[in-house]
Amino acid sequence: MSRTPASKSDRLRRRIDIEGIVQGVGFRPFVYQAALRNGMVGFVLNNPRGVRIEAEGAPHLVEAFVEVLRTEYPPLAFISRFSVDDLEPARDTEFCIRSSEHDAEVKAQIAPDASMCDDCRAELFDPNDRRFRYPFINCTNCGPRYTIVTGVPYDRPLTTMADFPMCPACRAEYEDPLSRRFHAQPNACPECGPQLRLVDPSGRGLGNDPLAETIRLLQEGKVVAIKGLGGYHLAVDASNEDAVQTLRRRKGRDEKPFALMVRDLESADRLVRVDDKERRLLLGIERPIVLLEQRIGNLVAPSVAPGNRYLGIMLPYTPLHDLLLAESFAALVMTSANFSDEPIAFEDEDARERLTGIADAFLQHNRRIHTRTDDSIARVMGGEALLLRRSRGYTPRSIFLPAVQPQVLALGAELKSTVCLTQDDRAYLSQHIGDLKNLETDQAFTGVIDHLKTIFELQPEIIAHDLHPDYASSRFAETIIDRPKIAVQHHHAHLASCLAEHGETGPAIGVIFDGIGYGQDGTIWGGEFLLGDLASYQRVGHLKQVPLPGGDASTREPWRMALSYLDLAFAGDIPDLPFLFGREPADVNLLQKMIRKKINSPLTSSCGRLFDAVAALAGVRQCVNYEGQAALELEMSIPTSPGDDNYDFSLESGDEVLLLDPSPVFRAVAEDSRRGVAPGLISSRFHIGLAEAVRMVCEELRSVHKLDCVVLSGGVFQNRFLTERVSQLLGKSNFRVIRHSLVPPNDGGIALGQAVIAGRVG
Ligand code: ZN
Ligand code: ZN
Ligand code: FE
Repeated sequence: MSRTPASKSDRLRRRIDIEGIVQGVGFRPFVYQAALRNGMVGFVLNNPRGVRIEAEGAPHLVEAFVEVLRTEYPPLAFISRFSVDDLEPARDTEFCIRSSEHDAEVKAQIAPDASMCDDCRAELFDPNDRRFRYPFINCTNCGPRYTIVTGVPYDRPLTTMADFPMCPACRAEYEDPLSRRFHAQPNACPECGPQLRLVDPSGRGLGNDPLAETIRLLQEGKVVAIKGLGGYHLAVDASNEDAVQTLRRRKGRDEKPFALMVRDLESADRLVRVDDKERRLLLGIERPIVLLEQRIGNLVAPSVAPGNRYLGIMLPYTPLHDLLLAESFAALVMTSANFSDEPIAFEDEDARERLTGIADAFLQHNRRIHTRTDDSIARVMGGEALLLRRSRGYTPRSIFLPAVQPQVLALGAELKSTVCLTQDDRAYLSQHIGDLKNLETDQAFTGVIDHLKTIFELQPEIIAHDLHPDYASSRFAETIIDRPKIAVQHHHAHLASCLAEHGETGPAIGVIFDGIGYGQDGTIWGGEFLLGDLASYQRVGHLKQVPLPGGDASTREPWRMALSYLDLAFAGDIPDLPFLFGREPADVNLLQKMIRKKINSPLTSSCGRLFDAVAALAGVRQCVNYEGQAALELEMSIPTSPGDDNYDFSLESGDEVLLLDPSPVFRAVAEDSRRGVAPGLISSRFHIGLAEAVRMVCEELRSVHKLDCVVLSGGVFQNRFLTERVSQLLGKSNFRVIRHSLVPPNDGGIALGQAVIAGRVG
């Protein structure tokens, strides 16, 4: 600890202004208690920018106090600015918490929802506590935030807890600066707070003890819709194969894996392998679903994740979850309550209507969810956490931008939609909204925009959207009048998103591998090498284009892509291959005609489709049931020790653009598949070959453009094997590699990139 030199005065007074997520997270009681410990006089108050403190006392104690503020703040707090000024001593007589300053301009940030803390868990299971087994226990260190806020400032009347006047005991805690529940806005108890209710699909109450009855139904193999923090889950016993199959059938979800909620870390350890990084991710207050490698012979029903080496696992994050799992189940399937790709249900009436025929019963409660948020999904890659879906627990935490910019509303793309708003040098990326192709999602889309505008008091000056004119999000942009609109190329947005996430400005080489995105030239891009920064880009290389026979149909039927690539590789003279055996010769002929005559076969350089083609040819999958399935299964098929064999790509230089040609890869894959080489080996040779090709292209680009910073983005970089291999190879060649971490590499991260680009050029 440093001591200030003796000053003329024996007393020091300092003003400390703290910005960030510092309201509604127990910051003032923390300050108050630290002040008492250090013998300070003065005050603390909430103001529109955060928290202001004036503290006075002996100089060394003031120093110590400021140090405590800087380093020991509460778990949900997030400090973005911390400034200290000297003042003249005022000689107050005590330290107090003053009432909030009100002001039109509110910049203080709202915290994300947080999982139950250990103190609350101890009370939950303590028979002598007045909240023993109360499913809505919370405190300033945990509980709902973003999902219950209806406006700013964050205060009980502007949350859905306004419905519940506090009883005297709760009120006393709420007003006591020394209580863990001082100004805990969702504070409640069995006397005054929300209650559970179990109903059948017609809305009739079931049983006297909703929790016990729910557990009984689940044990019987029934499907129960359970209202959580950001919406409803559909739950079944994860060890009951019949129950899981029933849920799968009713939900219209053929093979997409279901997420599990497991009782605790030990239960998780029995199902999956968990390393240190993954353990920390599982236990974090955000409590995302973490993708983890299954242990062979675990007791999870096979239909939970068919054909998948991984399981999506999360730990309980509300008291209700703990009560459900503590005594009865090691693992429950807890999947978003929706039909196929519709947004998650979160309102009681709507849930009952939409889930009729899916759920046998509904465990509801009367604390309203104001904004829905899905569970977040994460994976550890190359020793770092990567969010594949950024939602509950993370939204609305801000992302710090490299510079201050005008207020932008960015509308994202089409699949895995999110929106992004910016203010000064901060970006707010919304929760996951879903695929923008049905009415429910469209309503959710406008709802999220309005909610973010309200809680951050934003009036966007510029609208950013995808270059694709037919995306619902682009058409939505057209309905906004009086604001300049900027169309951003899809893969440039991916590049900028990754740079901005890390506060970087570029320029960099962008290796952007994803499904499909609308190109500047009107063709479909997706396997791109860009050279760019936050304002502009140049397309310096790409995968050689092939026809997408049948357009969208080729996304659902990877065998079509295999045929397209074989046509390129063998110049039309395709050999007889095992993957074609199950196909009608007439279908194959027709498709070849379409490819050659370019009928309904737009050209694409998509990298996702390249993976599809290899998956089909290797015998992994001919048709998919959900987006990305073939590529995912191709990755999963790689054996634990894959060796170092690889297929070679060839590189052509066109007019100032490098063309990466996979023709030799397909000739080799065709040969291997004819010889019956295992799909897993074909897969690893392909993955390693592509990683080598990326290094080859980047080296070529470095020699011309003198740039050694490489950004990896696009949905293909959800692939762990490829990402780790590419990073390794580029690292060995002395490139600096920038990868996503808290912003998804898939289209869920697009809106951030759009916002930053529009902020620069708008
Ligand atoms: Zn708590
Ligand atoms: Zn109470
Ligand atoms: Fe994309």
